[in-house]
Amino acid sequence: MPMHYTPGPELNGWKQIAAYLRVSVRKAQFLEKEQGLPIRRGIGSKPPVFADQTELETWKASLSSSGNSLAVPPTSAPGHPRVSRRSAVLAGGAVLLAAGSFGLTRILAPRPGRIVRAGVVGNTLYAWNATGDVLWRHRFAETLWTNHTGAPYAKWRTQIIHEIPPGDQRLAFAAAFADAEGDSPSREEIYCFSSTGSVLWRYSPEFSVRFGGERFHGPWNILHVLLVARQPRPTLLAAISHSNYRPGFVVEIDVDGKARLLFAQAGNIHCLHQMVSPSAAFILAGGVNNEYNAASLAIIKDGAPPSRSPQTPGTRFEIQGGPIGDPEYYYLLPPSEVNIVGGEPYNKAIRIADEQESIFVETRELELDQQTGKAMYYFNRSLDPIRVSYGDGYAAHHRRLQAEGKLKHSLADCPQLHHPVPVRRWRPKSGWNIIQVPFDPSNGPDAYRS
Ligand SMILES: [Zn+2]
Repeated sequence: MPMHYTPGPELNGWKQIAAYLRVSVRKAQFLEKEQGLPIRRGIGSKPPVFADQTELETWKASLSSSGNSLAVPPTSAPGHPRVSRRSAVLAGGAVLLAAGSFGLTRILAPRPGRIVRAGVVGNTLYAWNATGDVLWRHRFAETLWTNHTGAPYAKWRTQIIHEIPPGDQRLAFAAAFADAEGDSPSREEIYCFSSTGSVLWRYSPEFSVRFGGERFHGPWNILHVLLVARQPRPTLLAAISHSNYRPGFVVEIDVDGKARLLFAQAGNIHCLHQMVSPSAAFILAGGVNNEYNAASLAIIKDGAPPSRSPQTPGTRFEIQGGPIGDPEYYYLLPPSEVNIVGGEPYNKAIRIADEQESIFVETRELELDQQTGKAMYYFNRSLDPIRVSYGDGYAAHHRRLQAEGKLKHSLADCPQLHHPVPVRRWRPKSGWNIIQVPFDPSNGPDAYRS
């Protein structure tokens, strides 16, 4: 059964994931461990857990598509027997899915050769099937880098590129290798593996680009990898940024490893997202723009010629000899009070996700002692900014800056929370204008509400 991948809204935390699957949190955790439920994790000591709705649907379909004739014990719904690993074993080794929760009554036989999950242990990438058997493993010759750059995504972001054509299952994996000291990556690459674990291709960013009078050769970091829907086959997008300086790029890599530059900007790109509307598909690329010292959001129409960020001509922020197309929209999300008073050079967009009818862009305003002060910008499906709110980490940083005497007012009197935020928007025909985006007091920070 060929499957097309269209990234769906993101579910954050076990509660949302379990609610979406209509099972208990324990059941969802069981399904991850035993049935390859595609769960992703951020990084840090308590990594956040999230899932993509489309991946969950694909996972459900992959389980139900291999149905056979055995009866199905339904799920943990009240009054039904629970599915357990033991009952799966008793049923002749068939993998039983909690099918009742999906409105299906099927039994699910294992598909021994099919990768449902992959992950890194030490220096080795493992691919597992639905019953938790290791299908193959790949040991990297160099040490994989395990620190993080401050971006919220794990480097070890694996993507199963589904079977198109049927049986051609591939796995893409972004790897960063440690330098001698181990405190920064020396080289980053995307690996594509076949369903049996052979390396089909590798992609390593090798740009040499000029902005103004300066040429940048790298080293380049891969800050985010995203699988997006394309006909007839899906494509990988990679957010690539210079490890020390400003250039940032979005590169599109097809399933055969052929890469093409989609977008370039004078500032690092940290996060990617795809939005599919009835009329068109858009790629969203979030990061920072160094000319304006502000978080940036580029919105690129899928299929448009390669484009670049709007910069002042003749400045060192203008790309030379690069793409000449324009993005559909380009936004600057200005630094907040906490960002400025906290002494940061700029804020940056670090995550983009779907949330019901909106798309939200999370910016990092200030980070200290592992606490991140965030702003959340919400956009409607026409990609207009509609409201902004701030997280509890933002409130905590505000209180700290008050205690240090750097801010003279309380959060309740904070101008940032009483005035709209002037977001700058650029469009190819009209250039720059300002949209006043209102603060949404119904959505945090908690300390402000109390
Ligand atoms: Zn304030």
